[in-house]
Amino acid sequence: MTRLLFLGTGWSHGVPMLGCDCPVCRDADPRNQRLRASILLSDDTHSILIDVGPDFRQQALRAKIRELDAVFVTHQHSDHTMGLDDLRCFTWARESPLPVWADSDTRERLCVVYPYVCTSRSPGQAVPLVEFKSWTQPVSLGNMRFSSFPVPHGDLPCYGVRIDTPGGRIGYVPDCSDLSPQALNHLEGLDIMILNALRDTPHPAHLTFDRSREYLEAIGAKRSFFTHMGCALDYHHLQPTLPEGLELAWDGLEVEL
Ligand SMILES: [Zn+2]
Ligand SMILES: [Zn+2]
Ligand SMILES: [Zn+2]
Repeated sequence: MTRLLFLGTGWSHGVPMLGCDCPVCRDADPRNQRLRASILLSDDTHSILIDVGPDFRQQALRAKIRELDAVFVTHQHSDHTMGLDDLRCFTWARESPLPVWADSDTRERLCVVYPYVCTSRSPGQAVPLVEFKSWTQPVSLGNMRFSSFPVPHGDLPCYGVRIDTPGGRIGYVPDCSDLSPQALNHLEGLDIMILNALRDTPHPAHLTFDRSREYLEAIGAKRSFFTHMGCALDYHHLQPTLPEGLELAWDGLEVEL
């Protein structure tokens, strides 16, 4: 059995957003409170993180994560990478570095942001012992296989993820402004599809809620989830309008497959 856990389902600001007094930002319901976007895949032998944003410490505490076997990074934006230093606790006990898979631009950027990670000769408690690895081919870890494919997202390289497991197939695209026919090819035959939906008004680097819904319905997974949502998207307002199988994800939601 594979477990998919939503660690964070928010846009880059998180929800509530600093300085915002809108009804969603003031809502105490956890389904309207969103840390930065990240998911955890785990089975009996492996625990794999996708994106390590600035809320990673809080997310790891909440989810009681005790060890990680690998991290995959979709792109270099801060809301997907600024928790890298907090991987230290998960690398102390390892004999080999914790692999962090990413494309070349993201790896270069991470070495600029975290020079001590890339140059330290004696990683210890002060430096996470990680090894940046090139993610251009599918990576198999135990029974899970992680494939990446490019998606447009502003002017930066950015990737969607397909995860094949014995229990089912998952698509995860936390940031994009569109999906090409090639990207849609990677998202065929899915049991679960997770796609970003920023807000209801257009943004040059993101999908609107309506456009995301069109893509989710076209992809046709058994269960489809919105993620990377801003505070314009109210769970209580939107969820009752959706058909069965189409859901706004929320932090802490776990799906078994
Ligand atoms: Zn993002
Ligand atoms: Zn707000
Ligand atoms: Zn981004």
